[in-house]
Amino acid sequence: MSDSTIAAISTPPGRSALAVVRVSGPDTAGVADRLGLPETHLRVARYATLRHPATDEPVDDVVAVRFAGPASYTGEDMLEISCHGGSLVPQLVLSAVCEAGARPAEPGEFTRRAFLNGKLDLMQAEATLDLIDARSPAMHRAALFQLERGLSGRIEELREELLNLQGLVAYDIDFPEEDDGPVPAANIDAAANRLHVALGRMLELAPEGELLRDGALTVIAGRPNVGKSSVFNALLGCERAIVTEEPGTTRDAIEALVSVSGYPFRLVDTAGLREGAGRVEGMGIEVARSYLERADVVLLCVEAGRSPGPDEVEFLAEVGSSEPCRAIVLRTKFDLGADSAGAQTAHEKLSESVAELPVSAHTGEGLPQLRDALLQRAYSGIRSEEETPVVTRARHVECLRRAREDVSAFQDARVAGLPAEIAVTHVQDATLALEDLLGAVTSEDVLDRVFSSFCVGK
Ligand code: GDP
Repeated sequence: MSDSTIAAISTPPGRSALAVVRVSGPDTAGVADRLGLPETHLRVARYATLRHPATDEPVDDVVAVRFAGPASYTGEDMLEISCHGGSLVPQLVLSAVCEAGARPAEPGEFTRRAFLNGKLDLMQAEATLDLIDARSPAMHRAALFQLERGLSGRIEELREELLNLQGLVAYDIDFPEEDDGPVPAANIDAAANRLHVALGRMLELAPEGELLRDGALTVIAGRPNVGKSSVFNALLGCERAIVTEEPGTTRDAIEALVSVSGYPFRLVDTAGLREGAGRVEGMGIEVARSYLERADVVLLCVEAGRSPGPDEVEFLAEVGSSEPCRAIVLRTKFDLGADSAGAQTAHEKLSESVAELPVSAHTGEGLPQLRDALLQRAYSGIRSEEETPVVTRARHVECLRRAREDVSAFQDARVAGLPAEIAVTHVQDATLALEDLLGAVTSEDVLDRVFSSFCVGK
């Protein structure tokens, strides 16, 4: 428990009907008294005039709710004050609260206290941030699922399996004279193998989980006038989009966050920069070079019904060679490609290995297929396994990778015939990696597990 009482405005600055000031810590009741807030029933909203503790002047009419720890967000005594919004009132309320004995909270300090007081594990604390930052339904779903301990629960299951494995091996260590006792070697190997596969599956989905946070970076490339901006706008127009502009950065592209079936894509176009930054070698391919390296998907636009040029073939060879392939060729202006009899003009393919889609930004033809292709490129794993919890951060990947490497090292040690006491240290390390992930260190658990699942008298 922390001995300081903290306060912060929890709502964003600016003009609004209401704002919320939160207080947490051992002196919360004292702070409330000094502000003239009557002793409220716990968890009951009370209307009151908040007064400045030094001058007794009224500051605002507020609604205050008190929570007694540990049944609160932070686990400490808490006070939530709903005051009027705007640029001044919340600040005046906060300074009155600080005058009454609280100190301004550090960023994330309420959630940090919630974690330290055991109200949340580390991954749930991260999910709280993810939920606040969520800009797509898929991220919202993943964060909410994790807040309910969906992912933590899965990690805990894996941790339990690691503890069980330690238990099995410990039995081998304690009773070495029983050559093939109640724990056959095959059971130990099967348990290690199951863990290796389960950790591997989570790691496989992790890159897609990380994409959920910022969106899959999708760069549109092509010669001038092939219809790049039109494709960009068509994708925006059909789905809700937030156009973001980074102040203070040299812009060589326009960027927008697009939600495709609820999954986020960061769409990048060189639109509006017909000269200079975005242009590669004179009349060649226009592309936001600074984004290209990091692109998850590259949409190369080439008009339907005309033969591709060497610049386009070369560009595709450059971006289309990655595994899995991140390029899609869009044969644009498909509506112009029909001959007088209505038949589409055949067009020469750019590459045998890269998918080509006919699209028309004007008629909307091909756009549903383009959206499907985008989802397939960026999120095929998590979409096909919607029930599987996904990790969303580099920290998660790092811990899971450590755990999997340790399980591999355990398997190698067994193959090499190393003594069980040495081999088992790898399982202990793998357990620690998952505990780091959850932010919980409970080494007593290992001992408990050994003694509870094995009869000591044996
Ligand atoms: P960019 O320079 O590659 O970004 O190309 P724009 O999107 O600005 O399009 C260039 C021209 O092609 C404009 O006059 C568009 O109206 C036209 N255009 C773009 N897409 C289509 C399409 O699907 N069909 C037809 N008929 N014209 C298109």
